[in-house]
Amino acid sequence: MIIDQELREQFGDRLEENVLLRDFTSIGVGGIADGFFRAERVDDLVEIVSFLSRREIPYFILGGGYNIVVSDVGFPGVVIKNEVRDIVFSAGSAEVIASSGVEIARLLMDCASRDFGGLEFLFGIPGTIGGAVYGNAGAFGHAIGDFVKSVTILLPGNKDRETKIIRHSGRWLEFQNRSSKIKEFSRLHPNENKPVILSVKLQLAQSKKGVILAKMQENFRQKKISQPLEAKSAGCFFLNPGEQKEQSAGYLLDGAKAKKLHIADAVVSKKHANFVINKNKATAEDIRRLANLMKDLVRAKFRTNLEEEIEYVGKW
Ligand SMILES: Cc1cc2nc3c(=O)[nH]c(=O)nc-3n(C[C@H](O)[C@H](O)[C@H](O)COP(=O)(O)OP(=O)(O)OC[C@H]3O[C@@H](n4cnc5c(N)ncnc54)[C@H](O)[C@@H]3O)c2cc1C
Repeated sequence: MIIDQELREQFGDRLEENVLLRDFTSIGVGGIADGFFRAERVDDLVEIVSFLSRREIPYFILGGGYNIVVSDVGFPGVVIKNEVRDIVFSAGSAEVIASSGVEIARLLMDCASRDFGGLEFLFGIPGTIGGAVYGNAGAFGHAIGDFVKSVTILLPGNKDRETKIIRHSGRWLEFQNRSSKIKEFSRLHPNENKPVILSVKLQLAQSKKGVILAKMQENFRQKKISQPLEAKSAGCFFLNPGEQKEQSAGYLLDGAKAKKLHIADAVVSKKHANFVINKNKATAEDIRRLANLMKDLVRAKFRTNLEEEIEYVGKW
C-alpha cells in the first residue's frame, strides 16, 4: 500500500483510494489503483506530479483510457485522471492551445464553430489531446504530430531534483508511427515516471464550418464501416508493420485466420482483425493471452513480428 499519512494529509478527499480501473478503460478490464486523483486544473497536475515524483511514488496519467490494457492486479501507485480542459484560440492566426485533458471531439467541434479545419481526420478517434499527442494518433494517412507547433511538458523530478515545466517545438517529440519520444521513453523505461504533456499548440487551417462538419461526418461514416466502434475495445491492438495495405496488422491477422481465435470472453473482432474485444467478462489476462496467440499466428504464417500499439499498464 503506497498511500500513507503524508499523502492523505496533503490531498485530503481529492485522493480516492482503491479505485477499480476497469471502469475507466474502454476495453473494460483492470484491477485497483492504490490512489486515484482527478486533476481539473494545470496546477493540480503540477502539484500532484511534483509531490509524487519527489517521494518517488509511481504515477500513471490517464486520459480517456481508450488505448490501454490495465492488468487485473491493477496499478501500484497513483492514477492521475487528466480532466484539464482549457481551450484558447489565438486571435488572428489559425492556432489553438489545448490543455491535454481536452477531448478530441470537443476540440474539433469548437474549431469547426470558428471556421478552423485541418484536424477533421481525427474525428471519431476517442480520447484526449494528451493521449493523442503521446501516441501520435491519426487516420486516413494523417497524424496529429504534423499539426503540433509546440508542447508544454511537465518533467518529473526526484528527491534531488525539482519538477520542471518546459516548452518545446513539436519536432522535439520525434513523432513516429503511432508513437512519440515520450511513448518511446515509457517503452524503454517502464518503471519510471514519465513526462506529462500539459498543453499543445496546434496549427489549424482557415475553412468553413459546413465544409469541416461534412468532412468529419464522412470520416466517421467510413470508420464505422470498417471498425467495431460499438464494442468494448482499445482500438487497433497492434502497429502496422508497414504502410502498404498488405503490411497492415489487420490484413496479416485476417490472412493468418486470427478472427477465429478467442479466450473466454476475449475475442478477435469479425469486422476488423486488429481489434480485440471484451464481449462481457474478459480479464486482462485473457486479453493478453489472446494477443500472444494472434502474434504467434502471424509469425508462423508471415514471419512478421507484430508489436502492440496499445500499452499494458500496471503490474503483470
Ligand atoms: C473504438 C476505437 C477506435 C480508435 N480509433 C483510432 C484511430 O483511428 N486512430 C488512432 O490513432 N487511435 C485510435 N484509437 C485509440 C485511441 O483512441 C487513441 O490512442 C487516443 O489517442 C487515446 O487517447 P486517451 O486519452 O484515451 O489515452 P489513454 O488511453 O488514457 O492513454 C494512452 C497513453 O497516453 C498517455 N497519456 C495520456 N495523456 C497524457 C499526457 N497528458 N501526458 C503524457 N502521457 C499521456 C497515458 O499515460 C498512456 O500511456 C481508437 C480507440 C478506440 C477504442
